[in-house]
Order: sequence, then structure tokens, then C-alpha cells
Amino acid sequence: MSSHSKPLGEFDLIERFFKTGADSLGANADQSIALGIGDDCALLRPPENAEVAITSDMLIAGRHFFPDANPELLGHKALAVNLSDLAAMGARPLGFTLAIALPKADSHWLEGFSRGLLAIAKEYSCPLIGGDTTAGPLTISITAFGATPSGKAIRRSGAKPGDDIWISGAVGDARLVLAALRHEINLPADDLQEIEHRMHQPTPRIELGIQLRNIASAALDVSDGLLGDLRHILKQSHVDAEIILDKLPKSSILKKQESSIQNLFAACGGDDYEICFTAPSSQRDIIQTISHSLNLPLTLIGKTLPKKDVEEEIYLLDTFGILLSDAETAPLLNSFDHFAI
Ligand SMILES: [Mg+2]
Repeated sequence: MSSHSKPLGEFDLIERFFKTGADSLGANADQSIALGIGDDCALLRPPENAEVAITSDMLIAGRHFFPDANPELLGHKALAVNLSDLAAMGARPLGFTLAIALPKADSHWLEGFSRGLLAIAKEYSCPLIGGDTTAGPLTISITAFGATPSGKAIRRSGAKPGDDIWISGAVGDARLVLAALRHEINLPADDLQEIEHRMHQPTPRIELGIQLRNIASAALDVSDGLLGDLRHILKQSHVDAEIILDKLPKSSILKKQESSIQNLFAACGGDDYEICFTAPSSQRDIIQTISHSLNLPLTLIGKTLPKKDVEEEIYLLDTFGILLSDAETAPLLNSFDHFAI
């Protein structure tokens, strides 16, 4: 804080940039927020027979995003990654809280940040219901609340051997954008522009999660890379998996890269925020119907298998169902490509 500028007080910050009535967000039509910002606590009134899903994510400048990142995009992403977790459980958003540490009260930055944040909050009917502000290194922590009918949340532990494995949208683009921004890969400006939003403005698959409630046996959102995240389902469901590598859905832009890059980014790149889920093969037709109704590709990429050993195993196959060699699969199965910024 420079000595000559008067710091904005906590109250001013919330009033000026974040206090928006639930009504103005187009939210709360179902009266699920009994009390929003302004008291010691917010009050949630979940629908009857609902379970409340709760998720938190912390983003630290220099670690999870570039310190000079566009604040409006950052506002979008900070909430989007939390909504993506709600989507993965089949939860409908109720509201969220924001705790934010700021090195200084920079009104230009705050205006952009709150614009991005409140726009996606409105889009998904997920109003800001409380929070805290403090001086400190730029850190954004959001906790989001959602609701599912009791017993209907999609857990990671429900996959059975022989279930299909599906992924929404396309994977690998966010990693490709990062590679381009880091100058690891030369991406034509037009191509970069076309997929940049995949890294900066991920789309939480809320409607998909809701529609999968009675269909998927397990689900999660892909934040750290498809194969690495899939392991969480395998571990908790006590199953192995086989994945047909060529089936991983990729954008036309990613398909222009050489095949080793395509595979690495699609299989291991982070930040896609697509939903990976399992379902019995008897659900294929209805899953295709959901795909059409949401205008969202859902791609069958493999199946779960009975567990053979202590450690869960992922077998990578070629188009003909032949096991790929260790030399081909090692970089994909051992990649901890969780990039920091
Ligand atoms: Mg998640």
C-alpha cells in the first residue's frame, strides 16, 4: 500500500465491487438463499430432501495464474473451477463465498475481477453470499455450495467393472494454449485466438452433471489431466481401465500438432474442466440423447475392468484394441504435467 493513498476499507470493497442483491443476479428464484451478504453469516435454505455439495479452491498469483493476468478472465475462472466441481457431482449451484487477499486496493483490477466473477455467477444462478477481504499477496479463495437430491450426487466410487468411460467436450486445448503462451510451441495467432478461452474461460458442465445424476456410476471434472484424474475414479471404485488413445476428443487446432503432442496434451494436459464419467453400457442411447440436447460432444473412450492388482492400472490401446508399447505409453502414464501457471 503506498503511503499517500488511503486504503479502501473492507466494507467499502464489498459494497463497491461485490455487493449485488441476489435478485440482480437473476438468482434465488427458488428462495434457496434466505440471507445474503451483510450479516455475520449468510443463510442457505436448500431445497427439501437435498444434500448440500461444498467445494473450495484457492488460487495464488504466481502459482496458479500469472500475476498480470487479465482480472476479468481471472474472475470468471476463479468461480468456473468451483462450479466445475459442483457439476462433477451433479449438483445445482446455490451460491458462493469469496475470500480475497489483495496487495493493494486497485480499483481498476477490482472492477475487472468483479465484472468477470459476477457475470459467470449470474449465468449459472450462483450468487455471491458472503466473504472476506484482507491485505496480502494476491490470493483468491472461493467456496461454492450446490444441491443434489438426497442420495443422487455422483461420486467417484460408483464405477463397476465393464462400465463405459466417457469424456465431455474436447481435451488438451488448455495445455496447448499454455504451451503457446510459454513459447514452447509456435501456434499461429488465429489458432491461439480460437482456443484461448479454453484456458482462460473454462465452461463448467453444470447441465451435463445434473442430467447424469441417474445415469453415471462415477464422475469427476478433469482439472489436472485426463489420465491422472481418471485414476481417482479407478482407485475409489476399485477397478482398472482400458482407454483407446485415438478416441480422446481433440479440437481441430490440437489435431494440427504432431501426434505425440496431441496425445500428451489430450491425455495429460490440465485445466480442461471437462467431465469424465463412467456408466453402464445400457445407458449409451440416453447419453447420446443428452449429448444432442446439450449440443455437447460426449465421447466413449474406453471401459473399466476388474481390478487385477493392488495399484489401479490404465491400459492404453490403439484403434484396433492392441495394447500400446511401454515406450509409447510411459510418457502418458507417468506424466505429472500439472502446470502451476
Ligand atoms: Mg474436481
